Order: sequence, then structure tokens, then C-alpha cells
Amino acid sequence: MDFRNRWSSRIQSLPPYLFARIDEKKREAIARGMDIINLGIGDPDLPTLAPVVESAKKAVGKPEHHQYPSYEGMLSFREAVAGWYQRRFGVRLDPGKEVLGLIGSKEGIGHLPLAFVDPGDVVLVPEPGYPVYHAGTLFAGGTTHYMPILESNGYLPDLEAIPESVYRKTKIMFLNYPNNPTGASAPDDFFPRAIEKATRYGFILAHDAAYSEIYYDNRPPKSFLSYPGAKDVGIEFHSLSKTYNMTGWRVGFAVGNASVLAGLGMIKSNMDSGIFQALQEASITALSLPDATLAELRGLYQKRRDAFVPGLVRAGLRVTPPGASFYIWAGLPKGMSSEEATLLLLDKAGIVSTPGTGFGKSGEGYVRFALTVDERRLMEAVSRMEKLALFSGR
Ligand SMILES: *Cc1c(COP(=O)(O)O)cnc(C)c1O
Repeated sequence: MDFRNRWSSRIQSLPPYLFARIDEKKREAIARGMDIINLGIGDPDLPTLAPVVESAKKAVGKPEHHQYPSYEGMLSFREAVAGWYQRRFGVRLDPGKEVLGLIGSKEGIGHLPLAFVDPGDVVLVPEPGYPVYHAGTLFAGGTTHYMPILESNGYLPDLEAIPESVYRKTKIMFLNYPNNPTGASAPDDFFPRAIEKATRYGFILAHDAAYSEIYYDNRPPKSFLSYPGAKDVGIEFHSLSKTYNMTGWRVGFAVGNASVLAGLGMIKSNMDSGIFQALQEASITALSLPDATLAELRGLYQKRRDAFVPGLVRAGLRVTPPGASFYIWAGLPKGMSSEEATLLLLDKAGIVSTPGTGFGKSGEGYVRFALTVDERRLMEAVSRMEKLALFSGR
């Protein structure tokens, strides 16, 4: 039997898989013997930091870690998170009720609407943006109201452009700075304005800070929770994935408003059973690493950024160097669509990129490159673009 025609309406209403055509083109290019440079995925190329791997090896052998973990995370893990927040952001958290372990932050982001959203409720979602905010909303039966984040507004949503009638139905607003895909950061006056709206209309502000540790020029982004009133209305998602090269391990956490975390915890206690404790122990090691270790990693991304961005500009693209994240959001020459550019890059130059439209319609006219290959390969990518005049020929 083929059950595809019995798929639930929530599955059927998922946006079309925009990357399918690119995947096919990529396979064709590989079959033609093309040397592919993959700048498509946001997955660090380097292995997990060595002390974390060592810690995990030891922890795996301990029988006390072999049973079901608690869904909210071991107290020692939550204490390590609280300690890290205090050191890094100067934000005080109660590890007892203001920290919740997650099986990767994607899990928590996807589950949050299930805890708070009913049919008829609205979730405000930045666009272009990480696709999980909409998918979680859809699965909960809610309605997504997209907030365009445009270059002309510093890639911030225009909070005054959202109608009062929409705000009144809003249960959650998702925000994400440093931003994927644009690499933008939020200026100091932005979060207070968002907190004011959340307070006035009584919705949850859910800030995704997956890239807070991948920053440049020694300018660390602040936590959303360091702004006055933030903990009254919101939570912040974090992940060990990008910070410690741990995407495969699936460890993240949410911190902030205790009643929001309790709601998310209700979903989790009924759907999953938490993070493997050995990984929590290794994560404690990660969160306790000296800052110099992370500074080294940031230095590496910074060298890549500083080599790649001027190269892209020479090749005819419009790029502002990001202040954080490992993404380069490149504006295309007038008249060239995101999809056209992505296919051209792959077909002619063997470069995998992500079309801006893969993150929402306001991504039209841009492509995203990830700095997840070494400098030599990044420069090879630039020289192919220049030689083929992919973006300067018109
Ligand atoms: C990578 C990413 C995440 C989630 O990562 P996890 O591995 O699930 O912790 C969340 N938000 C954004 C914007 C991301 O790019």
C-alpha cells in the first residue's frame, strides 16, 4: 500500500521542498566529475572540540547514565547552563525552573507552539528565516504571520507594521539574532521595543540565539534576557551545535520564563525522554571550556570571512560583512533571481549555495553561503566565479 494520499493535512500543507531540485543538480554535477565546493549547509566542518569528545568517552561507560534521563535535564547540566549564562551574559538563572535541556534547540523550537498555540492563534515568524518556526506553528494548527526582515530595515521586522488585530491573536513571536540567513545582529534598541509589544499584548517572545558565540571583531552579542522585562515575557533558545561543533550530538537548551518552560516541558515529558546523560556530562565540559578555546574558533571563521567577502565583492556580488554567524548573505546583480544564481553557481562553477527564497519570499535576490569550508576552498570558489564572470557579465 502507498499511504501518501493518506498523509495528514499538516504534512500536506508543509512548504514544498525547495532544495530537491538543487540536490538533483548537485548529483548531476558530481556525476559529471565536477569538483564540488559545498557552501550550502550550515554545519561546521571541524570536529567537536577534543576535551568534549574525551569527556563523552568517559561518560558513556558509566552505568548510571544508561537509564532514562529526566526530561528537563540533569541538575548538574542545568547548573552548568546557569553558570555559563552568568559568566557570558551577566544573566542570573534559577537552574531549578529557568533552564530546560533540549534534544537540540530545533526540538524545542518545533515543540513550543504545541504547548501554547490553538487553531486561530497567530505566531509571528521572521522571513526570510529558519523554517522550523513555521513548521512548528503549522503542526500545532496555528496561523503563521510572516514578518519580513528587509535589508532596508537592517534585517529587523517592522514592529509597527503588524496590525493591532494580528497582535491581539498572537501567542508567540519568534526572533533570531545573530540572524540566519542574513548574518544581521539586533541593535540595542530593538529588543526593548519587542518586549514592550509582548508585554502590551501578552504574547511569548521566543528568541533563538543559536549563533551568539560565532561573532567577529571581539564584539559579543548580548543575550535577549539581559534586557529589562525580558524574563517576564520570554525565553531564549541556545544550542551547543554551532558553538562547539556539536551538530550531530543534539544538545540544546531553553532558558528564561519559568511558566513558558513548564509548558514546553509538558510537551516534552509526553513526547520524549530527554538528552542521553553521557552527552549532558560532555556538554557540562563544553560549557566550562575557557573562552580562549572559543576565541580560536571565532578567529578561524573571521579569517574565512575576511578573505571571502572581498572576493565575493570582486566577483560582482553585494555583501556587507556579517558581525556574527557563519553565513554570508550576498545580494545578486539586478534582474538575477535566487534560483537562477544557485543553479548557475552549481552548473557552471560546482559551487553549492542556498537560494534566498529557500528561507522565504523576501529572500529573493540573495543567495546564502556558509563559511564551513577552509579558506583555500573559499578562495577557489571566488576565483571560479570571477573566471566565469558569473555575476559581472551583465
Ligand atoms: C542550526 C540552527 C538551530 C538549531 O540547531 P540545533 O542543532 O537543533 O540545536 C536553531 N536555529 C537556527 C537559526 C539555526 O540555524
